[in-house]
Amino acid sequence: MGLKNLKRMIKITLPDGSIKEFAKSTTPIDVAKSISEGLARNVISASFNGSTIETSTELTTDGSLILYTWNDKEGKKAFWHSTSHVMAQALEEIYPGIKLTLGPAIDNGFYYDVDFGDQKIVEADFKKIEDRVLEISREKHEFKMRPVTKAEALAIYKDNEYKTELISNLEDGTITFCDHSNFFDLCRGGHIPNTGIIKAMKIMSVAGAYWRGDEKNKQLTRVYGISFPKQKDLTDYLELLEEAKRRDHRKLGKELELFTFSQKVGQGLPLWLPKGAALRDRLEQFLKRAQKKAGYEQVVTPHIGQKELYVTSGHYAKYGADSFQPIHTPAEGEEFLLKPMNCPHHCEIYNNKPWSYKDLPKRYAEFGTVYRYEQSGELHGLTRVRGFTQDDAHIFCTPDQLDSEFKKVIDLVLYVFGSLGFENFTAQVSVRDLDNPDKYIGSIENWEKAENAIISAARDKGLNYVIESGEAAFYGPKLDFMVKDALGRSWQLGTIQVDYNLPERFELTYKGADDKLHRPIMIHRAPFGSMERFIAILLEHTAGNFPLWLMPEQAIILSLSEKYENYAKKVLELLENHEIRALIDNRNETIGKKIRDAEVQKMPFMLIVGEEEANNGTISVRRHGQEGKGNITVTIDEFAKIVNEEIAKTLKTFEV
Ligand SMILES: [Zn+2]
Ligand SMILES: [Zn+2]
Repeated sequence: MGLKNLKRMIKITLPDGSIKEFAKSTTPIDVAKSISEGLARNVISASFNGSTIETSTELTTDGSLILYTWNDKEGKKAFWHSTSHVMAQALEEIYPGIKLTLGPAIDNGFYYDVDFGDQKIVEADFKKIEDRVLEISREKHEFKMRPVTKAEALAIYKDNEYKTELISNLEDGTITFCDHSNFFDLCRGGHIPNTGIIKAMKIMSVAGAYWRGDEKNKQLTRVYGISFPKQKDLTDYLELLEEAKRRDHRKLGKELELFTFSQKVGQGLPLWLPKGAALRDRLEQFLKRAQKKAGYEQVVTPHIGQKELYVTSGHYAKYGADSFQPIHTPAEGEEFLLKPMNCPHHCEIYNNKPWSYKDLPKRYAEFGTVYRYEQSGELHGLTRVRGFTQDDAHIFCTPDQLDSEFKKVIDLVLYVFGSLGFENFTAQVSVRDLDNPDKYIGSIENWEKAENAIISAARDKGLNYVIESGEAAFYGPKLDFMVKDALGRSWQLGTIQVDYNLPERFELTYKGADDKLHRPIMIHRAPFGSMERFIAILLEHTAGNFPLWLMPEQAIILSLSEKYENYAKKVLELLENHEIRALIDNRNETIGKKIRDAEVQKMPFMLIVGEEEANNGTISVRRHGQEGKGNITVTIDEFAKIVNEEIAKTLKTFEV
């Protein structure tokens, strides 16, 4: 017998890098206990050497262990997937003879695809199912994995063609069932210790779903559910969903008359209404002003480009076959593509003339509209569209300038976030996977330089950042901002991407101090990302109450009756002199109705004018959402001061 087999201790590496020795066959729960009892109580899932395991799985080799609680994404995944087993059990009891298929966890909860045969699940039954799930949960059944031979598994599921298909594709010796209570299911694993911690569960909806997502297959019923370790978590979640519905940008966009879609024009192609166009324009002007200060030059490029351009850039390989197809002209062999990216055009702008290192960096900016094909099922309001405008810019610089250019871009992104009320964000630095050097193009020296530049920029700018190994694109490292909105949802905004690939493909050069030709480095950046998606996020974040400087209209003048119409016009003129955007509601409606409509329109200030105001040259000011509290009567000059002070609080001047 070799020494190895005698080994009774294993070395476990924890996420903080510490290594601890444990007896062979220690379980994740044992490891948690060795850290603290509190942790052991909260651990609900674990992964070992990158694979999800049960908290009761015996560890027999050295390796890296991560323990998950409800607060981790992986913990929630185990929690929700485990609940799908319990729900499946309840469904089998309530609808005998149904065929279970697959029941994975999703971003928010889980689903189970079920063939209900002749039976039908209806909303009126949801409560009964939920109650049964909680009843089973309270019985604190352990989830236990059990290996099963292929022959056994096929025999057990001989009446279930779906499970039979799944099992047929598995290797004998790798098949496991998960048992809890008197229920079992074909499963790879990844469960919470027992059902007892499921304290709240709700069925969210049912929908049709084809087996394996293929419409040629039979349509099953997908039962969506979610569960929580506390009743209050469920209540909070449902409230959040309601609030998200109220803030849905598609709903607000309609109410505020910002944008629309037309079946005639085509799916996924937003049409911007005058108010929305003005909003976009204001955002563009805001960024253009800051970019001008930061040394960007504005360029303009066409919406199409020769197919060859995208073959050179590599975008054709990426977007070609699965995207909009080439446009042909009457000329033989001429092919154009709708541009999916602005970068190739900007590379050719750079190539317009030779550059010296003294000329760099060059920073080309363009609000460039691009087109990408998305399947109609994937389209969603302004967040998934087929045509959108990027606030794009490309910086061409020397390796030595990368550090300072990166910092300048971070400054610009932070300025954008600050001016638009996004205060809660973190950054992610995506670097190489050092074990796979062949995956990346560009010299090791350049990669090191770029990664160090990004990390030091993130640190110097005081960002709260994490470094993710192996997350870099093959052509360069990047920095992403993850922004939390008012509902606590995360959005990726303001990506800054280093690129060694396009300068190579487009043979970009500059003459160095050594008189030799060198490749510049390219930085792609877009603080908003796209105007469409950004406005959607901003709408949901602010519920339509944009920062005052951005509001399509900042005030509405409501006259108490026709008698004061002339005075209302005079007020409007004075406000215009102060560059305050206002309009008059001169409909023949009651003041109460006018106020209610202005509230729906999220009008920041309602300016009421009647006899007293007309006589004194004043306005009575009502703030949106304040229900008349704090109404004040002021002169136009005083009001202009209030508006300007509020604007100055969010919209600062960009300092370079
Ligand atoms: Zn399972
Ligand atoms: Zn680009």
